[in-house]
Amino acid sequence: MITLGIETSCDDTGLALLEGPRRVLADVLHSQVEVHAPFGGVVPEVASRLHQDAFLPLLMRLLESAQIKDPKKEIDLIAVTVGPGLMGSLLVGVMSAKGLAQAWGVPIVGVNHLEGHIFANVMAHGELVPPFLSLVVSGGHTEIYEVLDYGNYNLLGRTRDDAAGECFDKVAKLLDLPYPGGPIIDKLAQKGESTTFDFPVPLSNSGEVEFSFSGLKTAVLWAIKKLKAKGQAIPVEDICASFQRAVVESLVGKVRLAVKKTGIRKVAISGGVAANSALREALRKERDIEAFIPPVKMCTDNGIMIAAAGYNRYMRGHVDDLRINPNPSMSL
Ligand code: ATP
Ligand code: FE
Repeated sequence: MITLGIETSCDDTGLALLEGPRRVLADVLHSQVEVHAPFGGVVPEVASRLHQDAFLPLLMRLLESAQIKDPKKEIDLIAVTVGPGLMGSLLVGVMSAKGLAQAWGVPIVGVNHLEGHIFANVMAHGELVPPFLSLVVSGGHTEIYEVLDYGNYNLLGRTRDDAAGECFDKVAKLLDLPYPGGPIIDKLAQKGESTTFDFPVPLSNSGEVEFSFSGLKTAVLWAIKKLKAKGQAIPVEDICASFQRAVVESLVGKVRLAVKKTGIRKVAISGGVAANSALREALRKERDIEAFIPPVKMCTDNGIMIAAAGYNRYMRGHVDDLRINPNPSMSL
């Protein structure tokens, strides 16, 4: 059985073909990051237009690289992200999926983008079976789920304000670093001293599985302002390292708490911030945690995770029809 996975929730057009639950036949990705970079964030209207431009050429490349000659005969299921995400972006994926499902006469299944991120781990680690905990940490989300079974997710806690990825992006802006901020801060932090600035670890003593990153961003802003007022140079690498330390301590601390509360030791991470080298290292070092960390390529948005989540969902008996529509604020 071959599933076509379609991801267009934000600024990456991702398509993949999956045979059965985990054999990737082909995957292609078109990133818009360079177009959005000068604006310091994703411009929704531009994103949806670029998905539209990218979609068909990308689909042709996908079919060619998997040597699919007759998709009508060879493709059995279409899995598409329906939310959460940007409405205009989601619409391109969902409408394209509907057209293809109609033309090829195949079923369509809508996928929650966050379930997709969780399935990035299932794809990367064959041995990972529920129950496990999942830290989804991306540009728009910072959440810990208890994965009781596939399709059965219990939200243990989330951010009160900004997502961790959003915070990386905003702090990068404060430091005049390019968008997206995560990868460049990660790189510069490796050359910096993480104890130079004593940035607070948010909600570290709250006793709840919850996050908050807007205060941390403000602390960085004040540190920069103070240095500027004194006419001192900005030690960018040290700020990056100190900021990243606080984020990682917050994430790892709450993961520890979630492990303690649930008694589940297996922890999978996903989403763009899961690419962060300090977070990956810190989780690997945790004694009481069995960490499942996908390759960097699987952390950010891609079609493979959507195909995998959609296939699993279909096998659990879920199927949609052509009335399917995007839901930008969909929860898991
Ligand atoms: P969501 O999944 O919540 O809808 P999204 O799909 O836009 O959001 P992802 O593509 O999963 O988010 O992740 C993008 C985010 O990950 C950006 O905020 C980026 O700065 C951050 N990021 C990417 N690489 C790293 C890294 N090495 N360290 C920290 N953050 C990173
Ligand atoms: Fe994402």
